[in-house]
Formats: sequence, structure tokens, C-alpha cells
Amino acid sequence: MKTMITGVRPTGSITLANYIGGIRKFIEQQKEYNSLIFIADIHGLTTYINPSEIRNNILDITALYLACGIDLNHTIIFQQSDVLEHCNLGFLMAFQCGVGELSRMTQYKSKKAELSKNDKDMGLFIYPTLMAADILLYDAAIVPVGADQRQHIEKTRDLGERFNKVYGKTFELPEYQIPKVGAKIMNLVNPTAKMSKSAPKDDKGTIFILDDIEITKKKIMSACTDNEGKVYFDEENKPGISNLLSIVAAIDNLSLEEVSEKYQEYNYKDFKIEVADKVSKFIIDIQNKFYKYRNDEEYLIKILKDGAEKAKVLADLKMKKVKQKIGLKL
Ligand code: AMP
Repeated sequence: MKTMITGVRPTGSITLANYIGGIRKFIEQQKEYNSLIFIADIHGLTTYINPSEIRNNILDITALYLACGIDLNHTIIFQQSDVLEHCNLGFLMAFQCGVGELSRMTQYKSKKAELSKNDKDMGLFIYPTLMAADILLYDAAIVPVGADQRQHIEKTRDLGERFNKVYGKTFELPEYQIPKVGAKIMNLVNPTAKMSKSAPKDDKGTIFILDDIEITKKKIMSACTDNEGKVYFDEENKPGISNLLSIVAAIDNLSLEEVSEKYQEYNYKDFKIEVADKVSKFIIDIQNKFYKYRNDEEYLIKILKDGAEKAKVLADLKMKKVKQKIGLKL
């Protein structure tokens, strides 16, 4: 069986976009692969977050993974920092990489522009080498992610390929799996910007999966649209309506053509009521399961520790091979 891996950074409360972009596909396919899902806590340190909040976010994400349908019989869940081979390999991956190419990564450039004068950017700079390690360490064949991660997966392939060329075949090269629908869910208020979990908790354009349902409905009802009054998909000219269509298509597992046809006769208000209704039902279901898991911290911590032990066995084997290939093993 091939391996599949994905992760979420504990930088905030999970959004509907995180679910649609990466987690949904992962869950659908978890039985067809050796599946690993992790909490990318070291990557998360590129954004300063209060340490007590990080702990809370890690446990929230673990409970959410389970509530969304992660099946522990098929998937290993773990915390990235519990498997330090990620850092070891990440460091070695940096030797395959040029300063110039890392400084041209689009996410580095855009996130660096958001930093204030006193923020340090080295963690952000080497993000792609750590991400390459996350994936290459397990020989993952596919990585379900949102469109924002495409370039990072391409870089992972480059680094793995370079290493293989220099030292002989060591790593499988991964493919990204970007969903056809919902690869980039946009902010509801500003549909030209990506929906992000680093948004403030009261952001009206971000649907957090743990938000109060009435708040979620309000957010959808006041989502930005346009003046045309017709529901159809056109990302460029109708980003708000297109975003709502993507959300509803992802939740109902339909294509964009199918949802466009289904809602073509709706006015914006009725369309939004329908989207709000579907999103709320979906979220309530996840929330009900979430609180059952979240109330048992001991269980969540045990799952993460057990998962880390399993991941460590795989990571350790790979690191031994890597050390041998590069001549560090005596
Ligand atoms: P992050 O929030 O950066 O930890 O990302 C976790 C996963 O969610 C990754 O697979 C991202 O590509 C995905 N993701 C994040 N934001 C979005 C978005 N606005 N639309 C679709 N997928 C997203």
C-alpha cells in the first residue's frame, strides 16, 4: 500500500477551509493508504502564539480530526515535535537547497511582508525544507492539501529528487492532491483573500468549525456577493458567489456544474439561506462529536503518544537509511 500524509498547524481554530482543502480528501481515502495525519506544531511556530493557546489548539485539532472521521484503525495521528526525525531530516534537506530558491517561495515572500520589524524570519525561510522532511520521511506518495501548498510539495519533490541523484534512490517522490472543488476557500467578507485560521476569532469572513451555529449562519448571510443577482460560478467576476458555491459543493460532494445548475434559479438571499443551512448541519454534526472527544484530554494525549511511537518506528528506519546513504553511519 502507498502512503498518504497531511497536516494542520495549531495556529488557531480549524476553519471550514482546512476541512475542505486537506482533511476531507484524506478522510475519504484513509483506508486505501498507509495514512498519517499530524499536527504541524513546529511549522506553527512561524507565527507567535501564546504557549498555553498552542496546547489547547493541539488538543482541539486532535479532537477535530477524530470528529471529522479519522479512523484510528487506519490512520496514525501524531504531533510533529514528538518525532524529532522531522527536524533531523529537515536540517539535512537544507543542504540540498539554495538560499535563492527558498527566498523566491511565494509563501515566504507574502508571509515575510506581513512580519513586523522585530519578527524573525528564519523559521519561515526554512519552512519548505522541514515540510519536505515531513513528507519524504515516510515515502508518502500523495499529500492532500489546499492550493496554497502546491509550491511546497513541488519543492519537496525537487529536494527528494536531488538527494536521490546525489546519493542513490532513497525517497519516493510525492504528488500533491488538490481538491477539484474548494482548493482555495476565500474569506466571506473579502473573497479575494484566502480564508485563514490565523484570522481574529471575531472575523466575520472566517467560518471556524467550532463557532456558534447562529454566528456561522450570520456570517454566511452577510457574505459579500455582487450586484448581478444571478447564481453561477465565475471566480473572477463573482468571487463571493463562487466561493459559496464551492463551499456547498464540497459539503454535498457535488461538482461545481451540479451546484451551479441546482441553484441557478435562486436569488442571493435564498441561496445564502440554503448554504447557511447546509453548513450549519454539517458543523453541528462535527461539533457534537468534537465535544465528546475534547472532554477527555487524557485520551487525546494517549492517542498522540501512541501515534508518535508508531510514526517514530517508520521515521527512524528512514533516518538510518539516510545516514547510511550520506556516509554518516559508522
Ligand atoms: P494551515 O492552516 O496552513 O495549517 O493548512 C492546513 C491545510 O488546510 C493545508 O492543506 C492547507 O492547504 C489547507 N488550507 C488552508 N487554508 C485553506 C483555504 N483557504 N482553502 C483551502 N484549503 C486551505
